[in-house]
Amino acid sequence: MAPSEDPDYDPGFDTSQPTIARVYDALLGGKDNFAADREGAALYLKYVPDAGRCAIDNRAALVRGVHYLVRAAGIDQFLDIGSGLPTQKNTHQAAQEINPAAKVAYVDNDPIVLAHGRALLATNNSTIVVTADLREPQSILDNEEIKNHLDFSRPIALMVVGIHMHFHDDEKPDEWVRTIVDALAPGSYLFITDFVDTGEPLQKAIERAGLESLGNGWIRTPERITQHFLGMPLVAPGLDFLARWFPEEPDADVPAAEDLEAYQRILMAGLAKKP
Ligand code: SAM
Repeated sequence: MAPSEDPDYDPGFDTSQPTIARVYDALLGGKDNFAADREGAALYLKYVPDAGRCAIDNRAALVRGVHYLVRAAGIDQFLDIGSGLPTQKNTHQAAQEINPAAKVAYVDNDPIVLAHGRALLATNNSTIVVTADLREPQSILDNEEIKNHLDFSRPIALMVVGIHMHFHDDEKPDEWVRTIVDALAPGSYLFITDFVDTGEPLQKAIERAGLESLGNGWIRTPERITQHFLGMPLVAPGLDFLARWFPEEPDADVPAAEDLEAYQRILMAGLAKKP
């Protein structure tokens, strides 16, 4: 029996409430989740039957973005905030399969990520996992492990992938990200995916699923998502639905937005370069 299925197993943290990382893990078909998380994932699937495919597509876009950053942009340092539980291919694997020396610092505020990440990375000196909160961006910049691992005088790719939706605009998440971007060298990148609102029922449905299961998970207009990039120029193809976002082949033939399945119009990706 997996620990997560044993009712007497004490992992050292509260498992009675769903967390973002564990619900996402359940949607991706992972094993690092508990009954409350699986109920949360079931709510997502109730309102958006293809929610699992949204999560898989988000991971695939993450890998495409990392490959572009290493191969085309020459990036060899990643600060991945809201990294989530380790899954099939993570930022460090995507980066290090092209440049084995690429360094990755994972940051997440869910302690389960640290526990599982440390086990996964026990033998990987190029990658660290830190528990910290995006809401306190200065604590990330001041973190000794991160400062020792990444060289802030050289370009870094800041990954804030699949996390903005969990903050309401009233919390001003763009200001937290700005604090970190301000500390990055010119030539750094900011990589974001977010839930989009172009007026479609299934987009509203995923917001409802998030609000009912986790109490967060808001959708935003493309104009509002564009503001996450703090005025920095976006690399081609700009902000677009994941299924149309191929930064290494921005001119490739992609389906027209209206030809995508409705679930493929739930998330958008974008990548900006700091001048
Ligand atoms: N970035 C991964 C991806 O796109 O596949 C994981 C996305 S998952 C939907 C969002 C992650 O953000 C979760 O692991 C969650 O624990 C983390 N998270 C949520 N709020 C956070 C915060 N305030 N600071 C750091 N991480 C946070």
